[in-house]
Amino acid sequence: MLKKLLGMVEKTHEQEMDCEEVFEVLDIYAEAIVRGEDTTKMLPKVKHHIEMCRDCFEEYEALVRILESPDL
Ligand SMILES: [Zn+2]
Repeated sequence: MLKKLLGMVEKTHEQEMDCEEVFEVLDIYAEAIVRGEDTTKMLPKVKHHIEMCRDCFEEYEALVRILESPDL
């Protein structure tokens, strides 16, 4: 049972996130970046995805720009 569970965790860990999943946590990720938190530990898969995916990277940049805007 434990072995099966560990296998599942490993499998989940290896799985790449798709754009939809990344979009769901992208605001949290961008906030963490703006606050200077260590996202490589928190959301390594998001970081990996936006490095590979232009659509998500642009969305991420837009979010960071909004969060860093002094007008808010
Ligand atoms: Zn993407």
